[in-house]
Amino acid sequence: MERENREELRKMLLSLREETLRKIEEEVGAKVKEDPRFTTLSTMDIGDLSQFDLDADINYSLLQGHLERLRNINEALRRLDEGTYGYCEECGREIGIKRLKVLPFARYCVECQGRLEKIQKQARMGKVFYRFEELEGEEEESFS
Ligand SMILES: [Zn+2]
Repeated sequence: MERENREELRKMLLSLREETLRKIEEEVGAKVKEDPRFTTLSTMDIGDLSQFDLDADINYSLLQGHLERLRNINEALRRLDEGTYGYCEECGREIGIKRLKVLPFARYCVECQGRLEKIQKQARMGKVFYRFEELEGEEEESFS
């Protein structure tokens, strides 16, 4: 990947991370960036959050979506630093710059994503679902 693209995507990821953190702060009603209890936020899930004394009217499914997105963003930033960014986790091929500019934290190429979506439709329950965190994130996007 060209250096220029890499820097552009890094900026996008960083601003997406800020935006996601802001949404999480809004939802939990706490300054998560300044609060030391939230230092491991990106690896947290809802179970971890419930141990904090947070607002009672939190929308946990929304929050779960934000946390998953944060995780994907952090993971993408880590891969950027490592030089492994932009490759499909499923088939190992390049995801493609156009797709990354729309979805900089994408984990799969278009072909694999399509195939995984098909499997998701067929599967009602079970292990297969752990692969679809990202898909759920995209669905959430289309509602806003
Ligand atoms: Zn692929």
